[in-house]
Amino acid sequence: MNPSSRPPVAVVWFRNDLRLADNPALAAAVDAGYAVVPVYVHAPEEEGAGAPGAASDAWRTRSLQQLAGSLARRGTPLRIFKGPALATLRAVVASTGASAMFWNRRYEPAVEARDARVKLALREDGLTVRSFNGSLMVEPWSVETGQGTPYRVFTPYWRSARPRWREREPWHVPDRLLACDEGPSGIPVAALGLQPSPRWDRTFWDAWNPGEAGAHEALEIFLEGTLDGYADGRDRPAQTSTSRLSPHLHFGEIAPWRIHAAVHAARSTARERHVDTFAKELGWREFAHHLLHHFPETVSANFNKRFDGFPWQTPSSEQWRRVEEGRTGIPLVDAGLRELWHTGWMHNRVRMVVGSCLTKHLRWHWQHGARWFWDTLVDADLANNTLGWQWVAGTGADAAPYFRIFNPATQAARFDPDGIYIARWVPELAGIPAKARFAPWQHPDLLDERSRTYPAPLVSLAEGREAALAALAASARRN
Ligand code: FAD
Repeated sequence: MNPSSRPPVAVVWFRNDLRLADNPALAAAVDAGYAVVPVYVHAPEEEGAGAPGAASDAWRTRSLQQLAGSLARRGTPLRIFKGPALATLRAVVASTGASAMFWNRRYEPAVEARDARVKLALREDGLTVRSFNGSLMVEPWSVETGQGTPYRVFTPYWRSARPRWREREPWHVPDRLLACDEGPSGIPVAALGLQPSPRWDRTFWDAWNPGEAGAHEALEIFLEGTLDGYADGRDRPAQTSTSRLSPHLHFGEIAPWRIHAAVHAARSTARERHVDTFAKELGWREFAHHLLHHFPETVSANFNKRFDGFPWQTPSSEQWRRVEEGRTGIPLVDAGLRELWHTGWMHNRVRMVVGSCLTKHLRWHWQHGARWFWDTLVDADLANNTLGWQWVAGTGADAAPYFRIFNPATQAARFDPDGIYIARWVPELAGIPAKARFAPWQHPDLLDERSRTYPAPLVSLAEGREAALAALAASARRN
């Protein structure tokens, strides 16, 4: 080919947008007629608190393999490199003769700052650089109060943000993409060394199918069955009653607007309540990103400064080991912790109960639990995890008041009334009647040999509650 007739080349930098369909950065490159150089740069040291945990890395490995396969089938192999990002991208540009670079935005504070530096530097190099919203219904900075300030409470945020949600035309990726043969081909996914060793993630993959195809499959399953009972079922941890789309959304394997459009299209009079409740949950995800953008310090600092002097306790290494092993002796909490360990995910209701127990009954700073979730959740997401922990600890923007303390035993009786979830994850308790599974220490007469091997609770629920309330009262007097 005559070099002058070569199509211009664009680097498409994949990050947490591991999909081809509805990918604004890829669409911009393809629609403008560029030959595409798809690149992934592994640079966790540049991501600050957003640097992925171990379970996320296990998911990412599989998701990258899926993406690499989809791109290879279209004639444009994914080129994977180890960072640093800017130097790597510059080297790719130099070796491919690219004149443009496109990516979809991320919102973690350190990543936002890094991306701004990269954008500026590449523009100074003379490149066309464009970034896109590939993961949110609205940009975090585009919703504001009448006074031009960020929202701190969900309901007014939602009222203002919801009408801005727009349908987007689906973008289907062509069967072939214009390729560029120049430049280095990068390293295989496996060379990133993200696969856990030893393979503690083996049990995850019965429950999950990482990648774009798996994301669309999860959406189909949700639409065909789960959506119908969502508004009530979403609080029942024993059932598959939620979409389980969270890791797919975190890794950008499916666009939220695609999910929203599909759920909305399935709307009927009977389903109205379920569709609205689900949209609101997507709204909480948007709100979490709004807060993260405007209050980036809340990744490590209390949103509510009133808690800065709160007398948090520090778990001993033995206490923490019992959390990791799901042996706190509080059945619903242990069921959740074991579900997390075995599947990389925990039901939302149980996340709230676990979070409440650790931050209130045990009075451990929310950062302890947040860090554990960060490392073990396949959907670990800096915006959602920060919001979730600060909400549950009562230190957050729109938070459960600190004095409202979930009782894990009554929560279990209410949301797992037959004790099925507890029996599934804490099999030591499967042989005793359901009512004894919620708080076995209250039913010594109903215990069998196996359930007697289950540990006594780390904390008495009544005493933990009283101590938490007393600490709150003392801290309020000091403030
Ligand atoms: P669905 O009920 O089907 O909801 C659909 C989508 O809406 C989810 O995939 C998620 O993207 C979003 N969503 C739902 N609930 C929330 C919420 N409360 N806040 C923000 N977004 C929400 N979610 C994460 O994605 N990553 C996290 O790291 C995370 N950490 C959490 C920590 C704590 C202490 C708590 C209480 C909640 C946390 N959540 C987190 C929120 C929620 O538990 C999960 O999003 C949800 O359980 C995922 O399951 P699903 O996809 O089946 O949810």
